Amino acid sequence: MNAFTYQETIPKWDVFDVIVCGGGLSGIAAALSAARRGKKVLLLEKQCVLGGLATTGLVNYWVPLCNGRGKYIIKGMAQEFLQLSVKYGFDTFYPDWKDGEPDHPTRQRSDSWFSGGIFALALLKLLKDAGVEILYDALVSVPIMEGNHCKGVIIDGKSGRRFYGCKVLVDATGDATVLSQAGVPTVDGTNYFTYYGEGITLDGCRKAVEKKDIFLAYYHPYGGAANLHGGFHPKGKPLYQGVTMEVINEYLQENQLLMLEKEKDKTLPKLEEKQAVTIKSIDSAQHFTKPPARYTEAALVHALEENGIGRPSTYAPTITTIINRGYVTRTKKTLAPTELGMIVNNIIIAKALFFVLRSSNEDRLDIVSLKTLELI
Ligand SMILES: Cc1cc2nc3c(=O)[nH]c(=O)nc-3n(C[C@H](O)[C@H](O)[C@H](O)COP(=O)(O)OP(=O)(O)OC[C@H]3O[C@@H](n4cnc5c(N)ncnc54)[C@H](O)[C@@H]3O)c2cc1C
Repeated sequence: MNAFTYQETIPKWDVFDVIVCGGGLSGIAAALSAARRGKKVLLLEKQCVLGGLATTGLVNYWVPLCNGRGKYIIKGMAQEFLQLSVKYGFDTFYPDWKDGEPDHPTRQRSDSWFSGGIFALALLKLLKDAGVEILYDALVSVPIMEGNHCKGVIIDGKSGRRFYGCKVLVDATGDATVLSQAGVPTVDGTNYFTYYGEGITLDGCRKAVEKKDIFLAYYHPYGGAANLHGGFHPKGKPLYQGVTMEVINEYLQENQLLMLEKEKDKTLPKLEEKQAVTIKSIDSAQHFTKPPARYTEAALVHALEENGIGRPSTYAPTITTIINRGYVTRTKKTLAPTELGMIVNNIIIAKALFFVLRSSNEDRLDIVSLKTLELI
């Protein structure tokens, strides 16, 4: 490798009790924790917004922190951050969990999607209120070591390079960048192509907007074979080993072009007036679409359960109510919608459903009956 050596005098800035490198959720938790114990804390983040993968990385989903019966089993800052992430903007948090633990056992989980952008702003306020000093656009480039003790870090930013001193340094860069530069042994991993990128399509997003159902856009990442170990990794694409600048750049750029390629194939080619087109094939076989089978009571109960609508004690009364109101009739074992049922369903779904989604307990009860109609 070609190399050259040069000397540089770097301005010395403030000294802190704790310097946290990286403003993802781990770094935020570390900084907040130290500040709440009265320490003077500096958080350094190379991007211009907080939250890391959870916000700019669009990993905007909380897996449940509860035991599936209405009790938190993971608490502390994880719970605090979850509550904060659903305080503003979009969420799918069950109302029962909004003010803490529900006052009754429930199978509804404490999970939620959230708006990454707004969560990032709320995190900034949380840290500021706790007295954490934050520097954006500050790339931590060199840890300064004295034996095994880190005395501080050199950062690169718009104003050039600076040194910040510290008593304790926390590496929360997500990939142990600072520790690795300080000589701590680290292990390289394997990078797969992003499964979110593979799973989410413009078509899926379009359907989500048309049907006003966000889950249609997210279907593959959480419902398909996607995982962090290669599910949805495109066939024929190599795995990327290591974390050098070259590997990371190749990985990112190939990945971005692949995303564009995926959507490009779906746009129609430009056609000129009177241009002759060649027919690739003609399929003369007549096809008939078969409507999905009607629900039986058992299948409907199963669907209610699967969609998290109501609870076991409400399944039977829900079915009795829609029959008594004349929205459906029971023929042999199957339930068929009546004309009244279809009209009521259309009116309610068109006018009301999406305004009542999860805004209060009362509203959730409305959804139970609306969703039931929709299913039939
Ligand atoms: C595709 C995917 C799906 C996931 N799904 C889920 C899920 O469903 N539920 C779940 O709970 N978890 C999930 N995770 C895991 C979760 O997102 C991460 O564990 C968590 O966000 C990691 O937080 P972190 O703060 O450690 O790191 P990061 O969020 O990576 O934050 C690191 C921060 O450090 C900054 N940084 C890096 N280097 C430097 C430097 N040299 N100088 C200054 N700043 C620097 C970065 O800009 C970043 O802001 C998923 C992760 C991925 C990748």
